[in-house]
Amino acid sequence: VPYRSRKPEWFKVPAPGGEKYRELRRTMEDENLHTVCQEAACPNIGDCWERGTATFMILGDTCTRRCGFCHVMTGTPTWNDPLEPARVARSIARMGLRHAVITSVDRDDLPDYGSRIWAATINQVRRQSPETKIETLTPDFRGEEMPLATVLEAGPDVFNHNVEVVPRLYPLARRGSTFVRSCRVLKNAKAMAGDSLSTKSGLMVGLGESFAEVVETMKALRAVDVQILTIGQYLRPTKDHLPVVRYWHPDEFDELARIGMEELGFDHVAAGPLVRSSYHADEHIDQDKPG
Ligand code: SF4
Ligand code: SF4
Repeated sequence: VPYRSRKPEWFKVPAPGGEKYRELRRTMEDENLHTVCQEAACPNIGDCWERGTATFMILGDTCTRRCGFCHVMTGTPTWNDPLEPARVARSIARMGLRHAVITSVDRDDLPDYGSRIWAATINQVRRQSPETKIETLTPDFRGEEMPLATVLEAGPDVFNHNVEVVPRLYPLARRGSTFVRSCRVLKNAKAMAGDSLSTKSGLMVGLGESFAEVVETMKALRAVDVQILTIGQYLRPTKDHLPVVRYWHPDEFDELARIGMEELGFDHVAAGPLVRSSYHADEHIDQDKPG
């Protein structure tokens, strides 16, 4: 349950409860799967699940990094579940999802960083649901090329890797990661897969960054040819996480979206208080583009 602090009124959303939402929740329970939608108590869950988008979290629920904004458990993972790719694929097929986002905790403890499970998941989803767009939201694999190539060879439609915060805030919010390395991952993905792959990244605001710093970060992402960008408001998951320094106004998000599209040349910028990396992800790409 998100930490309750006084939030501006633009965070009010209707409670989830539609038919498709309930069906999806049953499937997740039956298949013992983790979704970011549930674990991060995402405010968009009713909206996303009704429209057939969900974010699956593979490779367990324990992350080897410790980001100051993130609600995922951290420590030494014990996960070992070779049948997870099959269960993810079966669930996506059962639900007829149009757009599936697959993400994972960081598995710096594994020699392949979990990349073979990533590839197996993509391949099985593709086989069972050839119409479903697959978006991968990956860790940085410590900047190594082998695991990145393994994921890309499986052929996702969108490759997403979030930089999350402006470079100055990395030591505070994203220990164990670097902005430069994340940009290199995005650049390498494009270089390896070519134009058939859309690359995407995401940023949170509200952790103390300035407007100018956000624009500079957007420019750095365009410099490595990132085409799709999401920008949303950080919400503090519990009082043990970094505090919200400021709630950005919806007009400021609109201005960032305008700058991103009109001045910097992103194909798509989704910016708004409730925007998350996977929010309305199906709208960010051309659904008719061959997979
Ligand atoms: Fe799930 Fe992403 Fe939608 Fe939130 S925004 S409910 S995490 S798909
Ligand atoms: Fe959370 Fe990702 Fe950071 Fe792990 S690497 S703590 S999952 S944001």
